Amino acid sequence: MTILDVEKVVKDFETMTKDAENVQRETLKLILEENGCAEYLQKLELNGRTDPESFKACVPVVTHKDLEPYIQRVVDGAFSPILTGKPITTISLSSGTTQGKPKFVPFNDELMETTLQIYSTSFAFRNREFPIENGKALQFIYSSKQTKTKGGLFAGTATTNVFRNSQFKNAMKAMQSRICSPDEVIFGPDFHQSLYCHLLCGLIFREEIQLVSSTFAHSIVLAFRTFEQVWEELCADIREGVLSSRITFPSIRSAMAKLLKPDPDLADLIEKKCIGLSNWYGLIPELFPNVKYIYGIMTGSMEPYLKKLRHYAADVPLVAADYGASEGWIGANINPTVPPESATYVVLPNIGYFEFIPMKENVVQDKVNGSSLSVEPKPIGLTEVKMDEEYEIIITSFAGLYRYRLGDVVRVTGFHNLVPKLKFVCRRNLLLTINIDKNTEKDLQLAVEEAAKSIAKQKLEVVDFSSHVDVSTDPGHYVIFWEISGEVSDEVLQECCNCLDRSFVDAGYVSSRKVNTIGPLELRVVGKETFQKILDHYMGLGAALSQFKTPRCVGPMNSKVLQILCDNVAKNYFSTAF
Ligand code: AMP
Repeated sequence: MTILDVEKVVKDFETMTKDAENVQRETLKLILEENGCAEYLQKLELNGRTDPESFKACVPVVTHKDLEPYIQRVVDGAFSPILTGKPITTISLSSGTTQGKPKFVPFNDELMETTLQIYSTSFAFRNREFPIENGKALQFIYSSKQTKTKGGLFAGTATTNVFRNSQFKNAMKAMQSRICSPDEVIFGPDFHQSLYCHLLCGLIFREEIQLVSSTFAHSIVLAFRTFEQVWEELCADIREGVLSSRITFPSIRSAMAKLLKPDPDLADLIEKKCIGLSNWYGLIPELFPNVKYIYGIMTGSMEPYLKKLRHYAADVPLVAADYGASEGWIGANINPTVPPESATYVVLPNIGYFEFIPMKENVVQDKVNGSSLSVEPKPIGLTEVKMDEEYEIIITSFAGLYRYRLGDVVRVTGFHNLVPKLKFVCRRNLLLTINIDKNTEKDLQLAVEEAAKSIAKQKLEVVDFSSHVDVSTDPGHYVIFWEISGEVSDEVLQECCNCLDRSFVDAGYVSSRKVNTIGPLELRVVGKETFQKILDHYMGLGAALSQFKTPRCVGPMNSKVLQILCDNVAKNYFSTAF
């Protein structure tokens, strides 16, 4: 087995980031040469030109919706090259939890290669700070079903496509992060059963586990919340060497039977440790004494889970994983010691061609009549972005997306050589808005954090949350859904509700609230496990737990999730803050 040459990875990365402009030019050239014969590009009459200037002049900036007819033809098995030169054989289903339905994007070998490049780049930097040596990794990863489209293409979530690729396992071995669970668990058809078995495998190999990870931090928190419920059963399995009857799939049972041997000493030890913990603080290092760090995407919509994760992790460092999407990767976290809240991503200039739309509205003076005129902001190149500015990312990938609006907003917080370091800000379209107010996912997160302080005094927490704009009332109002870890008095919840209302500091919101063109904010407390039901709902639609993100704002189109939330409301409160 070859171990990754981390020094070489770092050296190549340094060379590339020092020459970012040329690398971007070359990358664009390569993408356009490889795919020039595709119908989509042919139509745009680039006529063999591959320079950024011609590219920008000929190719429009698009959204997923614009490309849908093309992608659909690929999905249906069209024979001719549509978006890429080489035929697409695999489709990724992006998690699409914001729109309530998954969307299709092409996946190909080149995308797999860029995935491995991102993984090895951040690993190289990470391993300098937190070296791991031939250990095992407890990775809470799950694969959704890989189905076939009517055109005969494989379709699964992007993570599924990555995990199923033979190169993935080799890469994990090269990074000394061999997964402790057997394939039957990772690819099991029921994620509840897979989760249980991941935990069991972790315990069996507890001394060897050097790394606990998942794609998104949510899955790690969910795993240890589950552990709190099932630890006695896990101990019983270890004691007897017999797998719980809750695991019903024969393939998982036989794979686990090979690992599970009666071990009363281990069962006693784990039991003792669990009983000795106070409110499960420090559970992870207690179970896995040689764990070096905890790894997963922890920024953006994952930030609300950090508090709980820190509780389980105690002093084990949390390291934020890289930044990408089903559509393509963007940047690697090369500063692993930075707390996840401040994590930034250095763009890899050879994995795609990147452009940035400034978020600051580009207002120019109309000299003739002196009035203000808003113009469509012009995208700029990777090496042209400015410090402290916010941008929406546009990607051109090796997998058939050209000038594609990803929908994410990022802020430039610095540079590594010539390449910007990006901080994830929010999803662009996740807005709570009724009239002139605009609140993003981040604004919602901050408001929830502020209001949750009142219940934290009673050692309770918001397990998960979401929101909705209710315009069925006149005036419309914001609705915030909370699932709380225990019982809270009406008085405290009323205070939380008022605090939420006051915490949206957007000027449009505050002024609308003052004149009552937006009604009082409503806090709806939902029953235990409501968010688990939402997760189950998405799993039923073929989503994978690995890529799951709780929808933070539920629109009217997402009627099923809205119904789950509304059906489970136990109490509601209206703000009296204004
Ligand atoms: P998916 O649709 O499942 O492919 O998810 C991709 C989206 O997840 C991105 O467009 C981001 O909004 C979010 N995401 C991915 N990586 C990160 C990260 N490191 N930090 C914050 N958000 C991320």
